[in-house]
Amino acid sequence: MGSVEGRKALVTGGSRGIGRAICLRLAAEGADIAVNYNGSEAAARETATEVEKLGRKAWVYQADVSQVAACNAMVERAIADMGQIDILINNAGIGSSGIGRPTLTEITPEQIDLVMGANLLGPMYLCKALVPHMRAADRSDVIMISSVAAQSMGPRMGVYSISKAGVEALAHTLAKEEREHGMRVNIVAPGLVETDMGRKLISLLPGPDDMRERDKTAPFGFVCQPEDIAAAVAYLCSNEARYVTNQRITVSGGGF
Ligand code: NAP
Repeated sequence: MGSVEGRKALVTGGSRGIGRAICLRLAAEGADIAVNYNGSEAAARETATEVEKLGRKAWVYQADVSQVAACNAMVERAIADMGQIDILINNAGIGSSGIGRPTLTEITPEQIDLVMGANLLGPMYLCKALVPHMRAADRSDVIMISSVAAQSMGPRMGVYSISKAGVEALAHTLAKEEREHGMRVNIVAPGLVETDMGRKLISLLPGPDDMRERDKTAPFGFVCQPEDIAAAVAYLCSNEARYVTNQRITVSGGGF
């Protein structure tokens, strides 16, 4: 029996990268999955097919999480299709590399809106829409995918760091507000992970663009994989973590 057998999860940004790995890991552990995407429909459908191959049900929902109406519509459709949802993974995000790593004085209002919308407002809108429904479950979990950027506050990552610090504040507050309803709320904070976002980031940083070259200087001899983040998420949603809430697991090999 899987660690989340019979549960139902909505994973934002499930089309690619870390979100895709979370969908597949939770499905392997027994959950049915709603795969959210914004632009990558084919990739989202491919994730859903992989979930089904694991013997679980999958639904695919297009929604730009930065838009409150889109979040509300997705939640309404997902509840109608799936019934009781008891896991929300706020994973969708845009990196500093996605807006060209401007400094805080170079950044445009449009770039601020893009990053804050996907990384912070989206999780806020989705928690507001879905958490009241999730209270009916005996146990429910909300996981925020943050970043070590919320601690390291590096240059040219300002709005990204601000958005991730904000999503961590959201998690810590929600954990206290919803504990009486059986909800666990936790944060997983990755360092560099080998995804499209990670590849784009290293292409803009000093050092090699090749991840296999980066392995040589990475902790433990390899760059973190999406499955390493999914493993932390699976643990937090499992019965092994039934007494764990309001916590942050940093998955970075021990460094920023
Ligand atoms: P990725 O490979 O670039 O994938 C991003 C995912 O987010 C895609 O599925 C994308 O969907 C979705 N997305 C982006 N904006 C969206 C929006 N407005 N509405 C709905 N979906 C949206 O990134 P990743 O590396 O997997 O990152 C996943 C999470 O981990 C992010 O929150 C990121 O900040 C965090 N993180 C990543 C790293 C890293 O090194 N990779 C490090 C620390 C933290 P579409 O493709 O369908 O548009």
